[in-house]
Parts: sequence; C-alpha cells; structure tokens
Amino acid sequence: MKIQVITLFPEMFTGVWGASMLWKAQDRGIVQYSTIDLRTFGLGSRRTVDDTPYGGGDGMLLKPEPVVAAIEAAKKNDPDALVLLPTPRGKLYKQSDAKRLAAGGKGLIIVCPRYEGYDERITAWVDEQVCIGNYVLTGGELPAMTIIDSVVRLLPGVLGGEHSAEIESFQDDDETVEYPQYTRPVEFRGMKVPEVLQNGHHGEIAKWRKDQ
Ligand code: SAM
Repeated sequence: MKIQVITLFPEMFTGVWGASMLWKAQDRGIVQYSTIDLRTFGLGSRRTVDDTPYGGGDGMLLKPEPVVAAIEAAKKNDPDALVLLPTPRGKLYKQSDAKRLAAGGKGLIIVCPRYEGYDERITAWVDEQVCIGNYVLTGGELPAMTIIDSVVRLLPGVLGGEHSAEIESFQDDDETVEYPQYTRPVEFRGMKVPEVLQNGHHGEIAKWRKDQ
C-alpha cells in the first residue's frame, strides 16, 4: 500500500515512520510512505500557499491551487488512491473505517490543512472527509498519523500475533473495550493480579474477561 501525505511539515512524519510497527511495515515491503511538501506547489517566488478568507474572519486558509496541484501530483504516483482530508467537518473516524481502508487495497493520499483551514473547493478532489474526534488540533498532521497508524497495523503481516487485531477494543464501533490485563509480578505495591487469572481455568478466565 502506498501512503502519500501532503503537508507543510514533512519532518513531522520522520519519527512516526521510523519507529516500531510502522517502520517494520515499510521494512517488510507491506507499505511505502512518502511526503509531498505542499510548499513546493506554492504560488510565485514566495511559494504562497495561504490567503485571507472571503467574508472576513480570523486567520488564513490554504489556497486551492497548491493543494489541488499537490493532489494531482500524488495521483500520478498512484491513480487509484483514495484522497482523505482530515477536518472537523468530516465523518467521525472509527475502527470500522480503519478496517475498511486496510482491507480496501487502495493507496492513501492524505491532505494536511493548517491555519484556519482550507478553501472548501478542494473537497471536489477529496474522496472522504474525516474527523478524528470532537476537539481542534493545529493541523491535519496528527489526524493523518492517527489514520495511518490505525490502518497500517491492520495490514496482513504487520502485527505479530495472528489474532491480535481481532480481539481488541471497538470491534463493532461500540463502547466495548478490551478487558484489563496484567503481567508479572503477581503483587505490585500491595496490588494483586486477580485470582481468576492465576488459576489456569480457561472457562473462568474467559467469563471474567467477558464480564470486564
Ligand atoms: N477553523 C477550524 C474549525 O474551527 O473547524 C479549525 C482549523 S484547525 C486549526 C486546522 C486544521 O487541522 C483543520 O482544517 C483540519 O485539517 C485539522 N484538524 C483539526 N482538528 C481536527 C479534527 N478533530 N479532526 C480532523 N482534522 C482536524
């Protein structure tokens, strides 16, 4: 799977892609990450990417010309890729979306707005608008990283345990979460691992976990 991110801050992604499972996924050839620096599509000698909003208001908006040119460049690399736009105006992103994107087999192009947002006309080049939660971040980079992490870990061959992604929280997009877990030592600062987990009785352990 090709994952291309359009951003004014490509350096933010180096650490995320360079560590742990996301790095392993690339190392194993399961995914190829790249960034497209939006500034290189800026207008004029100053490479301008933003302008003031029509109708007045605070802050600056990403102009449509650089964003659309960057999306078109990304599409040349991967014509069938889905274009995602992180935005508070989008549909709330859930585990089922991560599963769908991982299973879909298509590459991803993720556009990362900054400032007060973007010219709405760019959405004509976008397949899905995605909100990652009801709070406001300074840019689309952290939402993009969240989407990438949640999708890549579900790609076949990324997680170690065969079933580790199947018995996790939010499997049906509901409030169901995984049971509490413990490891050694059996007692830590006066707090003991529940007896039921120590007795080796699989039926009782399964019931306790379900109840939790
Ligand atoms: N003025 C915008 C508003 O009130 O909805 C917020 C702009 S925010 C400072 C800049 C960019 O960060 C947004 O355009 C969006 O791309 C991204 N962003 C911020 N919070 C987000 C969220 N919860 N989900 C997805 N993207 C978000």
